[in-house]
Amino acid sequence: MKAVIFSEPNKFSVEERSIPSVGELDALIRVHACGICGTDIHILHGEHIVRFPVIPGHEFSGEVVEVGSCVTGVKVGDRVTVDPNIVDRTCFFCRRGEINLCENLTAVGVNYNGGFAEYASVPAEQVYLIPENVSLDEAALAEPLSCCIHGMDRAGVRTGDTVLVLGAGGIGLILIQLARAAGAGRILVSEPDPGKRKLAALFGAGELIDPSSEDVLQRVFNITRVGADVVIESAGRKETAEMAPKLARRGGTVLQFGVVSPDKMVSLAPYDIFYRELKITGSFVNPFTHARAVEMLSTKQVDVLPVISHRFALENISEALRVAQSRDAIKVLVMSQTG
Ligand SMILES: [Zn+2]
Repeated sequence: MKAVIFSEPNKFSVEERSIPSVGELDALIRVHACGICGTDIHILHGEHIVRFPVIPGHEFSGEVVEVGSCVTGVKVGDRVTVDPNIVDRTCFFCRRGEINLCENLTAVGVNYNGGFAEYASVPAEQVYLIPENVSLDEAALAEPLSCCIHGMDRAGVRTGDTVLVLGAGGIGLILIQLARAAGAGRILVSEPDPGKRKLAALFGAGELIDPSSEDVLQRVFNITRVGADVVIESAGRKETAEMAPKLARRGGTVLQFGVVSPDKMVSLAPYDIFYRELKITGSFVNPFTHARAVEMLSTKQVDVLPVISHRFALENISEALRVAQSRDAIKVLVMSQTG
């Protein structure tokens, strides 16, 4: 099979590899599509601890073509999406139900070979069936959607809340739809790219702010008077992370969803957290939310198709990775089966 190999930082190639073996508890998936995530870019640049060489890719869908002898619940021919995050179930955190914080968390496409290949073998219990009315392209976005659902759980959006989303990339555009589905009263979006702002409006954002030409703080307080009930940072930038607490109302919640480079620091007045009773929270991966992601796709409450901006064949991974790092891209899919 053809597979993308990240052999060392900043070095990758498409190579011919044998189809992976299938353990007794594994399912072999003929990969349809695999999304490029910011994490893949970090892995490529050596900013994320992985086992090199690795076949990356953790946002994928496909069809089951073989199952191990002890597998139940998944069979050949099933259309599936994969939850890439594997936990040990026995550590301090797993035994308290906080599996995303597992001390031994590993992931398909990071620690094990993933979806930028024609086939991937994964533990069958990581596999989720998708209903007939969900396409395999849509199913490739179940993983980022599941992470966004956890973010919504953390943010605790209530019916009628004003939600401000900073950054309408692939993740921001999904979070906007989830905020709408959660009953947000008013959704404000700050995003410099006009095309992404247009999509944000399509998905339910009523107030669009262009941070490249407008004063975000002034605009948000003009609209809300008191600040937003919930502010979601989904740009992954120091500037927006620093601004987010200032945009929340007294007693409001700030969700740091975007991945800001670990060496970046922001300044924050503890007095502000105290006096304005701010709640500042993070959100990491997707504990028990993958099935809910499939449900949101099936019920069409989230439309991920407009979020897919580019599709590339596996052979064109170089171009796919280049585009994924450009401003033009929203979500880039790598298509494994183009013959
Ligand atoms: Zn654990």
